[in-house]
Amino acid sequence: MKTDHAVELKNLTKTYSTKNGNKVHAVESLSLTIEQGEIFALLGPNGAGKSTTIGMMAGSVVRSDGVLKIFGWDPEVDYLKTRTLIGVVPQELNFDPFVNARKNLEYQSGFMGVAQKDRWIDELVKKLGLENQMNKNTRQLSGGMKRRLLIAKALVHQPKLLILDEPTAGVDIELRHKLWEFVKELNQKGTTILLTTLPGRS
Ligand code: ADP
Repeated sequence: MKTDHAVELKNLTKTYSTKNGNKVHAVESLSLTIEQGEIFALLGPNGAGKSTTIGMMAGSVVRSDGVLKIFGWDPEVDYLKTRTLIGVVPQELNFDPFVNARKNLEYQSGFMGVAQKDRWIDELVKKLGLENQMNKNTRQLSGGMKRRLLIAKALVHQPKLLILDEPTAGVDIELRHKLWEFVKELNQKGTTILLTTLPGRS
């Protein structure tokens, strides 16, 4: 079982080729190390390459060059292994619109191969204050509740690394405070946290 650093990037590079033959250098030779148990923020303006970097970590974007390791594993070589180690809270909603909130969490558990899911889902639901939302269709949830459900969904398989892509976007002060307390608690229990943020956001 590899452990190592939580995240290790060496000269990580992603160049997109556009249809008209141009090249977009989304990430250029990025090197950084995140130790296990850290809270690490990637700060950069829109277009800086944060989402592309997260995509490469999660194995959904193929890198052009460089080294990328998650707890010692390379997502392009050991996709399934790294997928279970990472939970990503994306900026955009990724719910199944045809089933209720609870089922969204259960389906994700099944997708991640979690065997005994109910107790942990119950705990997440309680921690995130989602108790009264579970029977609702996700389209009926308020913006804040959708955010909480996105976080619950990223945590169903108890990942060792939680990645939050601009977690404060569109979130009011009170919820921001609550979510931050929750993230700190997860971190104290051993989860490594990576978040992206825009300059000027607190
Ligand atoms: P951030 O998350 O920091 O806003 P992104 O990683 O989304 O930055 O984007 C970095 C750069 O890569 C931007 O110039 C963006 O337009 C470009 N980009 C992102 N995805 C693609 C893609 N699939 N094809 C071409 N260019 C892309």
